[in-house]
Formats: sequence, structure tokens, C-alpha cells
Amino acid sequence: MISMNDFRSQDEGLIKSELEAVERVLRSGWWVLGSEVESFEAEWASWLGVPFAVGCGNGMDAIEIGLRALGIGEGDEVITTPMTAFATVLAIYRCGATPVLADISSDSAILNPESVKRCITPKTKAVILVHLYGRMGPVQELLDICNTHSISLIEDCAQAHGARSNAGPAGSFGRFAAWSFYPTKNLGAIGDGGALTSADPEIIKVAKSLRNYGQSVRYQHPLLGMNSRLDEVQAAILKVRLQYLNKWTELRRLIASRYTQEINNPQVKVLALPENRNEHVHHLFVVTHPDRDKLQAHLKTNGIETLIHYPIPIHHQEPCKNIQMDPQGLKRAEQHALQCLSLPCHPGLTERDVERVISVVNGFKV
Ligand SMILES: *Cc1c(COP(=O)(O)O)cnc(C)c1O
Repeated sequence: MISMNDFRSQDEGLIKSELEAVERVLRSGWWVLGSEVESFEAEWASWLGVPFAVGCGNGMDAIEIGLRALGIGEGDEVITTPMTAFATVLAIYRCGATPVLADISSDSAILNPESVKRCITPKTKAVILVHLYGRMGPVQELLDICNTHSISLIEDCAQAHGARSNAGPAGSFGRFAAWSFYPTKNLGAIGDGGALTSADPEIIKVAKSLRNYGQSVRYQHPLLGMNSRLDEVQAAILKVRLQYLNKWTELRRLIASRYTQEINNPQVKVLALPENRNEHVHHLFVVTHPDRDKLQAHLKTNGIETLIHYPIPIHHQEPCKNIQMDPQGLKRAEQHALQCLSLPCHPGLTERDVERVISVVNGFKV
């Protein structure tokens, strides 16, 4: 079976360093929010090239914490995409604000700026751009729109660790960026983990308080916060894996460029690659096909696992039936949800695996 992820294929050198890191934490006798978390926060910010990072429990909390740090809540609207992990929208609900969905662009499946414009009302406080599948979204266009309307741009970077354009890294454009270190992400922990990054020291200060019950100094709680702390084992593991991230991203890019060049089944469309290869870190490699379910079944029969990101757009999820959206509808997101398929694309794939995926995709006929 060629699988979507294979965490058992880690090399022995990495496993050895991870075991040492875990042992160091275990013997330190300090397991939540300590020196490992502090040093990881510093290393993560500096690796990205952004001023500050705050570790927290997961990626969804990072979004909620950041929104709350911006003062966004009840009565405020936040625009985002229907083609994302449910966590993006759930974080908006959880901070008390109202999510509004704009449509995607067909060539990338990422939030479409023209549709965003149609969603803006006097209540709009922020736009969350999801750098979907690891590709940087239209940062400059959205910044222009946000600046014109005095609203905040926020980056959901849960799939985009290390993506960068000539103008700067993903995560450096919004008021804050949210990161997830869920195990399947490009940089993953051995459990849940997340971070918020920002250039704004005030957001960082409030985020550090919110992640820990709204505490300022011990036992003083000027804010009603939450419990979203990063633990020392996860931080220690992340520091080790960060050393491998550039290599892993390069491997993902090689696989993606082979798929892009060699998949030639006329019915299978590969999402467009950016001109600047650094803008994409290929968290997922997504194709579309008019008979997607049959293509998926064909791959499964041939021993290749695939997944769909995402089969149900947000506005078709049960709790979101009355969600606000672009007055022109979300047609492109709906079409994408019906046709998209994610092929295996991770650093543990061998060249033979990649060749096999390509030949099975090319051999598919409806
Ligand atoms: C994974 C993911 C999240 C949520 O991260 P968690 O750590 O699982 O909470 C948010 N947004 C996107 C786009 C994601 O892929």
C-alpha cells in the first residue's frame, strides 16, 4: 500500500535524536510551558523570519487566540473560505464572531479576492487567508483590499510551513499567522501542537496570557483566557524535526514536479504550480477529475491510498447551514469539492512509489 503518510519511515538518525530530546524533557521534571517551549518559539520565529512566536495547544486555538487578541468577537464578521479544514471556521465561531464565506479561485482552490470584496460589510473585521495545500494565496491583493477597508488580514498557515514569495515568508503578511503542528502537517509533532506568530508585540503579549487562562502574572487573571498550552515534549520534538524541514520540503517539491510533468491522463487536471517554486511547500498534491470517486476507487484497487480535501465545503456542514456567504454563491468551491483528490505526496515516498502513482493515474479510463 502506498499511503498518504507513513510515520514509520523516519530515518534512524532522526529517531535517535527524538528519543534523546524526549529523555531530556522527561528527566528535567518540567513538562508544560518551560524552557523547551521558549527555545522552540525563538527558533520557529527565526527559522521563518518573523519577529515573535507563541506556542499553543493546536492550530485551531492559535486562530481563536489571535482573533481574540485583535478584539474580534460578538457582532464582528470574519471572511474566509469554504475550502478549508473545519478548524478555520470553528475558531471564528469560538471567538464569538460570525464567519462569512467567499468563493475560491478555480486554478488554486484558494480564497478569491473578488469574492472577498463582495462579502465585505460594515461589520467585517478580518479576512483569514488559508494558504491551502501549502501554496501561498494572493497576499498582496488581499492586503490591498484589507487596507482599503481598514480590516485585518490573518494567515492560516497550518499547511504552509516554509512557503515564501519574493515579498517574504507565509506568515509575515497578516496581523498574525496561525500554525498547526498536528502530526500530518509539514512540520508535525507526536501529538497536538500549534503556534501563533506576529510582528505585533501587543498581540504576542495578549496571546501568551490567553493561552494560559488569561493570566498576567501567577494567579492574576485580567482576561478570561483558555487552556491552550504547548508541552515540553512536543516543543523538544519540533526542534529536532525543524532541522529536517528544508530537506523534507525539497522532497515534496520533487514529487510534485514529477506528478505535474508526468501525469498526462487527459481527464486529470493538476492544480497550477506557482511560477516561483518557493511559494509552494506541497502539503497536499491535489488533482481534479470529473469522475473523482471512480478515480479514487481505481487507485485504491491498485494499492494507492488517497484522500479528499475537502469533500464537504463548510457551508454544507450541519452547523453551518445558515452561514453568510458571497451573494453570488460558492459555485467554484462546490465544483472543487466534487472533483478534487489528494495523491500521496510526503517525504517518505520512494521513486518507485511516485512512478507507480503516475502510471496508475495515467492508466485510468472511465
Ligand atoms: C490542520 C489545520 C488547522 C487546524 O490545526 P489543528 O492543529 O488540527 O487544530 C487549521 N487550518 C488548516 C487549513 C489546517 O489544515
